[in-house]
Amino acid sequence: MGMDIAPVLGVSLYLPVISYCSGIENSGDGYEFTSQLYGGKMDVKSSATKAVAMVLAGSFSADEGKSGGSASVEEVSVGAGSSRIQFKELIEPEAADVDITQSDILVAVGRGIGSKDDIEVAQELAETLNADLACSRPIVDAGWLPKSCQVGKSGLKVNPKVYIALGISGAPEHLEGMKDVSTIIAVNTDKNAPIFDVAHYGMTDDLFDICEEIGDSL
Ligand SMILES: Cc1cc2nc3c(=O)[nH]c(=O)nc-3n(C[C@H](O)[C@H](O)[C@H](O)COP(=O)(O)OP(=O)(O)OC[C@H]3O[C@@H](n4cnc5c(N)ncnc54)[C@H](O)[C@@H]3O)c2cc1C
Repeated sequence: MGMDIAPVLGVSLYLPVISYCSGIENSGDGYEFTSQLYGGKMDVKSSATKAVAMVLAGSFSADEGKSGGSASVEEVSVGAGSSRIQFKELIEPEAADVDITQSDILVAVGRGIGSKDDIEVAQELAETLNADLACSRPIVDAGWLPKSCQVGKSGLKVNPKVYIALGISGAPEHLEGMKDVSTIIAVNTDKNAPIFDVAHYGMTDDLFDICEEIGDSL
């Protein structure tokens, strides 16, 4: 929605459009924007007194953005048939049981989990730790977990206290959603997996053995 509307607003208001904002600071005489480009590999700063800013999902608390008043609404008729783009239907996104951007602990599964049935192992670990379940994109693409669980560039940016990555390689698109978490624990059989570049604790073990051991010890 933002991708569709922001450029139109920018042109109409004659304002710059700043995309993928992970930070916006008041600099006194304007604002300083931090944008994540190239899948989070590069942070770019830009400043403007006014701009249309598109924010990264999960980068800002929705509650902090709420104001006490209500906005005034002006209804504008756009005239049927005046545009080559026609409204057909509104497809509501699937309702999420859990908002993973608000979770304290996340147990995240990647393709290393192997099969849909084995997600139960991670789910049990999450329940034991009072955590919520998250995942990498292939898990959503395979239909094993809903999109609302996906962390990363085309998913959500999360900020739990602890992020446990099970069988996740650590592709840049995934790291974009979680690399700033203060405690990252990674389990991956491949010692060269890039997830270990951002992890604070790492285990080069089979994730099923680790889940079983943690389960037995608690
Ligand atoms: C435009 C674009 C947007 C994208 N957006 C996202 C996004 O939002 N989020 C996202 O996650 N990805 C995203 N991707 C995909 C991304 O590039 C990677 O393909 C994806 O993150 C890989 O997921 P993975 O780590 O689960 O799988 P893999 O890369 O296949 O890694 C699986 C890992 O599991 C390990 N493993 C295997 N078996 C075991 C075991 N038994 N125990 C322990 N470890 C094991 C392997 O060593 C391997 O490192 C995007 C890609 C593009 C192009």
